[in-house]
Amino acid sequence: MPDADALPEPSVARRLLAWYDRHARRLPWRAPPGETPEPYHVWLSEVMLQQTSTAAVAPYFQDFIARWPTVHDLAAAPHAEVMAAWAGLGYYARARNLHACAQVVSRDYGGAFPESAKALQALPGIGPYTAAAVAAIAFGEPTAPLDGNIERVVARLHDAHDPLPGAKSTFRGLMGDLVPADRPGDFAQAMMDLGATVCQPTSPKCMLCPLADMCAARAAGTAETLPRKAKKKPRPTRYAVAFWVARADGCVLLRRRPARGLLGGMLEVPSTDWVAGTWDPASAAPFAPVAAAWTELPGVVRHGFTHLILEVTVWAAAVPADTEAADAVWTPVDRLGEAGLPTAMRKIVEHAIGHSAD
Ligand code: SF4
Repeated sequence: MPDADALPEPSVARRLLAWYDRHARRLPWRAPPGETPEPYHVWLSEVMLQQTSTAAVAPYFQDFIARWPTVHDLAAAPHAEVMAAWAGLGYYARARNLHACAQVVSRDYGGAFPESAKALQALPGIGPYTAAAVAAIAFGEPTAPLDGNIERVVARLHDAHDPLPGAKSTFRGLMGDLVPADRPGDFAQAMMDLGATVCQPTSPKCMLCPLADMCAARAAGTAETLPRKAKKKPRPTRYAVAFWVARADGCVLLRRRPARGLLGGMLEVPSTDWVAGTWDPASAAPFAPVAAAWTELPGVVRHGFTHLILEVTVWAAAVPADTEAADAVWTPVDRLGEAGLPTAMRKIVEHAIGHSAD
């Protein structure tokens, strides 16, 4: 890695801020360059943006702000409603922590978010990145947030070849050296925007880049290979049988998952445990939520989570209108779209509906 001192750091900030003033992306949670945004909006958007694209987040952000215009409103909302509004955005622990965080800010801070990264990080669901981003963007603290876009820009500016995630703290230090004392929030957002729109992963548009003549990777011809990433372990597959119970009154059986763990607190199509080996009928049958004549539907449903792949076989049964089951949330088939099902469960529903019509 070249000597970091070789880069004229203050110019990076000046150059990039001038570019940002002309090219900042218009995003629903943003204030125009030079203006301070609403901390509640910054925090909400940063939590939603973890592992998720701006395009996916925008409609959710607008829906949340319309339903719950202040952090007090969000804190007072029923938990199931918050989880349902989050459905489809994934990583559901974020939604649980989001609600818990809103309640702490509403109750203990009178609705005003603490202003330093250190204090923000003590709140539920706020890690080092989110704390640094909110402190910089909402409160002007000169922090060094490091998301995927910023990592890429920093690695390329310095032609840094150390692989991620091990190189994170090195990159954070390099980013910290670039942060200006004034407009640190705009600087962080400018780095994010440069990474998202110019310094893109596979084909960086160096011709359009305001930092082109300062960029070590461009000079070395290595930009497209950076940042390097350590090889990921392959994700294990987990297997389950899901039970699609269609009642004669047009309702299907859903259940709420336990509060903790994967998809915690979300509605589900009831299933066996998710295990390392495939299920045989005799082992799966005791997990069925009602006694019924089951038919195994053809094909399987696959869904990728961060750390595992879930492969689900679906058993279907038609039952009388007076059927009951423990912890059942009977839901009309034509209301399933509004039920707040997470994506994995929506795939199971689509598979079941598609094949039940065969
Ligand atoms: Fe990225 Fe190219 Fe700009 Fe370097 S010159 S920061 S590689 S877009």
